[in-house]
Amino acid sequence: MKLYNTLTKQKEEFVPVNEGKVGMYVCGPTVYNYIHIGNARPMVVFDTVRRYFEYKGYDVNYVSNFTDVDDKIIKKANEEGVSASEISERYIKECQKDMEALNVKPATHHPKATEEIDGMIAMIETLIERGYAYEKEGTVYFRTRKFDHYGQLSKKNLDDMQAGIRIAVSDEKEDAMDFVLWKPKKEGEPSWPSPWGDGRPGWHIECSVMSKKYIGDTIDIHAGGEDLVFPHHENEIAQSEACNGEKFAKYWMHNAFLNIDNKKMSKSAGNFFTVREISEKYPLQVIRFFMLSAHYRSPLNFSDTLVEASKNGLERILTAIDNLRSILGSVQDSTMTESDKEHVKEVDALVGKFEASMEDDFNTADAISAIFELVKLANITAAEGSKEYVQYVFDTIVKLCDILGIVTEKEEELLDSDIEALIEERQAARKAKNFARADEIRDMLAEQGIILEDTRAGVKWKRA
Ligand code: AMP
Ligand code: ZN
Repeated sequence: MKLYNTLTKQKEEFVPVNEGKVGMYVCGPTVYNYIHIGNARPMVVFDTVRRYFEYKGYDVNYVSNFTDVDDKIIKKANEEGVSASEISERYIKECQKDMEALNVKPATHHPKATEEIDGMIAMIETLIERGYAYEKEGTVYFRTRKFDHYGQLSKKNLDDMQAGIRIAVSDEKEDAMDFVLWKPKKEGEPSWPSPWGDGRPGWHIECSVMSKKYIGDTIDIHAGGEDLVFPHHENEIAQSEACNGEKFAKYWMHNAFLNIDNKKMSKSAGNFFTVREISEKYPLQVIRFFMLSAHYRSPLNFSDTLVEASKNGLERILTAIDNLRSILGSVQDSTMTESDKEHVKEVDALVGKFEASMEDDFNTADAISAIFELVKLANITAAEGSKEYVQYVFDTIVKLCDILGIVTEKEEELLDSDIEALIEERQAARKAKNFARADEIRDMLAEQGIILEDTRAGVKWKRA
């Protein structure tokens, strides 16, 4: 399996730190608002990477954080007159709903920065002991020049970077390139006690601490959007390697941006759509499929035309699966014929094509083409095929869709007779004054889009 490593700027064969295992860390969102579909791109892309590793039999430890203390969260909390934790808890919940709707699997660990403060303090103390960090008036800085390999990921050179800095070197910092590990408390901000006084951590330290705690000193894959390469990931390498004395991450994967009119979608630029907004216009399956229709390292422009094309493509796949399902429901048991066996060879060759695409730096665009070819083959061959063959093609397409996180099961629709039976049960519950059960049934039906109306003539119902 080959993947492109930002660190070496080339595709490399994947060799895990521990055989059969993958430890991957994906930088998560700062939670002060609903996530936008740009934020959803790394979630979808790296969830698909994880799913592929799992398909290949790896045991994947997938860690993704929530940054739940930050200037933007504090600002939003002050605007609303609530605590920072109320804001972050609210948007963590909303983010999890969006992830579920995008069929992103829950991480093995989803640590929150505010719950890992002790670990951050311990790492900063080690960095100070080793001479990689220093304190000035309650602020702790990382001594960037002490770390020899600084700039290895972003291919930047400290002297060039410094030459580009016009502002005067602050009095406090020893060097303009030094970055903050711990900052002192300000009025109205959340803070924690530390050896350097009350304060809060800088952003970069949380990922170094969480990846060490939940995966280990050396992790297999570190991932995130390409805007994180510098300074965030560069600083993470400096902190982790200076503290642990070990290589931090073997492979660095970065997704390109989701753009609008060729500009990065971002909250600060105001050119964004939240996942929640888009879900009113398209099923989020379509958005997931759209994101995977491009290679993760290519910029992807968001437009209705392109999303419509993805919608049609996905429908073609799901319709074929439905057809196979109904054939399976109606044909008699029969075993493969010689001609089925020939077709199985074609099916297997397309699975091989799918896998080869995924193993070439997760080329999901080509992997999707292989699924389309498979669908075409199924449409031509299934009607004449034996049940055993149809089952084989069906299982194969479903399996490949599952790797991409595309849901192929049909949502079970309640039959009219089921609805009427539930309404009767509700009436009986009401008579028996079991209102809790009666309400439960009403809510259950409402979730399925069934609306009840109590009239004099009895209960009427309709589908929403
Ligand atoms: P943030 O909450 O801004 O730290 O972003 C969370 C994740 O979303 C990071 O991995 C970012 O790199 C990524 N991200 C933000 N905007 C975009 C975008 N327009 N396209 C792709 N990834 C993005
Ligand atoms: Zn990070």
